[in-house]
Amino acid sequence: MKPLAQAVDLLLRNDPLLVFDFDGTLAPIVRNPDAAAMRPSTKALLGELTAIWPCAVVSGRASSDLICRLGGLRFRAVVGNHGAEWGRSLPVAAAARRDVQKWLALLVPALGEYAHVRIEDKGLSLTIHHRGALPELPRILSGLARARIVGGKNSVNVIPARLPDKGDAVLRLGRQFRPGAILYVGDDESDEDVFRLETTVELVSVRVGASPFSRARYSLPAQADIDELLCLLLEGAAHARLSA
Ligand SMILES: [Mg+2]
Repeated sequence: MKPLAQAVDLLLRNDPLLVFDFDGTLAPIVRNPDAAAMRPSTKALLGELTAIWPCAVVSGRASSDLICRLGGLRFRAVVGNHGAEWGRSLPVAAAARRDVQKWLALLVPALGEYAHVRIEDKGLSLTIHHRGALPELPRILSGLARARIVGGKNSVNVIPARLPDKGDAVLRLGRQFRPGAILYVGDDESDEDVFRLETTVELVSVRVGASPFSRARYSLPAQADIDELLCLLLEGAAHARLSA
């Protein structure tokens, strides 16, 4: 973690904003996504961290679902639906919701017969959870108008193409909090929308689980290593306060 430790050290000298994805980043990937939860150790470390720096979560989950899983921690912003769901509805949201319902009406008859498939309606997007192969899925998804298809872990996300993505969300958080530097940690294809950003302030991008295709500058070997990164941030915070 040495190059990352150096980047974190620099980050914390610059009034940072710390942004995290949830599944596969703060919480381990589990077979049943409804059972996903942070480890108590992760939650405790985040409790300390959120008291020091502004922290935010940007996730593919619906905001209401996400908030329930954050255990009352003091995140300054919680953004759902891959960057599109904020406290106040975006102007494009109504049309996006209509598209999602149209896709649902096509997907339920096309996929409903498969026992290993579950379609999750998140209002502003759909997630198709599947265990095992679904070779006909690309053909079915290609018939959905105005859809952006983003792969996930044991899942495929169907997102209105006109909605903001996670990259847009991080830029918006940057305008809102005006940090001197941003940390973003994520594990999946949708997080690449952040990793490929060009920002005016330093972006320390960290992918959980290295990928040869990732644009992230740093990586953590596995989700279980998130606590080590959070400890690093807390140690750095202590140093930054001592040297201030
Ligand atoms: Mg994730």
